[in-house]
Amino acid sequence: MIYLDYSATTPISFDVLDSYNKASKDFFANPNSLHGLGVKARELINSATKQISELFGVNETEIFYTSGATESNNLALIGTVFANQKRGNHIIVSKLEHPSIYGICSYLEKLGFEISYVNHTEDGLVDFEDLRQKMRSTTILVSICAVNSELGVRQPIKSIRQIIKKENPNVIFHSDMTQALGKISINLKDVDLASFSIHKIYGPKGIGILYKNVAVKMTPIIYGSNKENLIPGTPAVPLIAAAAKAIRLGIQDLDRKETFIRKLNERIVEELSLQPDILINSTKYAIPHILNISLLNIRPETFIHAMEEYEIYLGTNTACSSGEISSSVMALYDDKKRASTTIRISLSYLTTTEEITRFLNCFQIVYKRLNSLMED
Ligand code: PMP
Repeated sequence: MIYLDYSATTPISFDVLDSYNKASKDFFANPNSLHGLGVKARELINSATKQISELFGVNETEIFYTSGATESNNLALIGTVFANQKRGNHIIVSKLEHPSIYGICSYLEKLGFEISYVNHTEDGLVDFEDLRQKMRSTTILVSICAVNSELGVRQPIKSIRQIIKKENPNVIFHSDMTQALGKISINLKDVDLASFSIHKIYGPKGIGILYKNVAVKMTPIIYGSNKENLIPGTPAVPLIAAAAKAIRLGIQDLDRKETFIRKLNERIVEELSLQPDILINSTKYAIPHILNISLLNIRPETFIHAMEEYEIYLGTNTACSSGEISSSVMALYDDKKRASTTIRISLSYLTTTEEITRFLNCFQIVYKRLNSLMED
């Protein structure tokens, strides 16, 4: 099997699974219970949170556990705009966000919030001048994805922060860093809020993180028994222990991993660029882990299933919205055909040179076959 859909999700690392299993067996009690077993479980959460906060260079009280990046994004956007609506009703997002951000925006729009979509350059970077111009006295939140999930375009988060804060220091800056963690180095000093998902970094599904700077006011979006808790309910002790392990392992050796992945990416681009009717959609600002292409004459589902016959697994635009046209490719190229024929090849440090050789061989066979069927 050759798995090339690492941006949709990653296989869990056995070390991380060990942490999950150990916490499930030895720390099964409810961390909200007062007895000794509950205290032990609470201590495990505290030590995982301490570890995560040290790895992120933030305070322990600034880490919140969610079920994944979708929930983190919901809490980040809805929670902050509700808590800060006395200051205004205007939100700015980019045109290269994950679909979950657009889903939240359309909900907020129905409630009377106004959303502006900041323009980008032809390579997909946020247009600084447009961002400056779109800022209003009523702007309360700006949300910009650090690494786009479809094209891999990486935004200059630090510069974006400087622009926002220079225009208005009270504006809250959120970044969806789901595709950035474990792929590039991140600095949480550059943002007020950040969303993460652990299943993208060789951890289990069902756990995400929201980083929230202590100064950011936030209204809960889920209500439960403990009024002081932003996220009520019984904490998922094993998932939290596994998250700490996954983050620790995930952010190791990033430069070495990236150099290796870049070589694989360049090899694929070099070979596929020679083919007729294939367009490379990822721009020069894309991280090498994500390579988006359009096969202009072939439906993505057809191609993906044909590759599956060789046990090669690829992605379409994003696993969360398979079958639809790629909103990021549409935003960048304004070309419906290009945006409806995208394939996403996402690589990992686990990918081998041999896998890419086989992938390219099978690609040629399948591409030729499907193209000839189109001609008949
Ligand atoms: N944001 C981005 C950038 C993503 O890539 C994803 C996953 N496709 C999400 C949010 C949603 O993450 P989760 O599956 O943890 O809800």
